[in-house]
Amino acid sequence: MFVGHYSVSFALKKAEVSIPLWKLFLAVQFIDIIWAIFVFLGLEKAEIDLHSLAASPLNLYYMPFTHSVLGALFWAIAVFTCTVVFSESKGPIRWKMAMIYSIAVFSHWVLDFIVHLNDLPLWANSYKAGIGLYQSAIGTFLVEIILLIAGVIIYFRAVRHHQKVTKIFLFFILFLIVLCWNSIWGIKPPTTNIAASFLLTCYLLTAFIIYLIEKKQRLRENSV
Ligand SMILES: [Zn+2]
Repeated sequence: MFVGHYSVSFALKKAEVSIPLWKLFLAVQFIDIIWAIFVFLGLEKAEIDLHSLAASPLNLYYMPFTHSVLGALFWAIAVFTCTVVFSESKGPIRWKMAMIYSIAVFSHWVLDFIVHLNDLPLWANSYKAGIGLYQSAIGTFLVEIILLIAGVIIYFRAVRHHQKVTKIFLFFILFLIVLCWNSIWGIKPPTTNIAASFLLTCYLLTAFIIYLIEKKQRLRENSV
């Protein structure tokens, strides 16, 4: 899954509005960010396969450290622990933030489970699962976009933007929809490393754009 993961970011922002949305954007893709780095390092493996799945060009045949249930739990607990230890917030809010970030991290596996086809191991590289929505291009696109829009509706119930910022924000959502379209029907990556680089760039870029939008909103609030 790609932009559908951001629905969890938007929903969790409603759970605690003081959490920066850009950090939640990174949290829901944290497992894929580590995956991209592990692919570069040769620790996890994939190959380009343009024929098996309608909505994904990748055969993800070895990813025990990031996309196994055990791996996803490990990263969620690691993020929980780091938030508790390093957060500048004090008191119960620190634990709440740690909980929210770890839910965001683990949600990645849950949503991937809907789209991946029997390539998500329970642990190590065995007992692989996945419902396989990637077999349908239009099905994948619809589920991703419905999730994204549902997340945005929840988000707008919790957060008020200045009118100008709302416009920029909605353009950004449109950009996410284009990215989703491109991931299914657009240019196919020639190598696994290029696919991983492209995804990593998308994850960092989208989080950076959200950071800029949130900054613009803060400036607007301060100037009123
Ligand atoms: Zn993933």
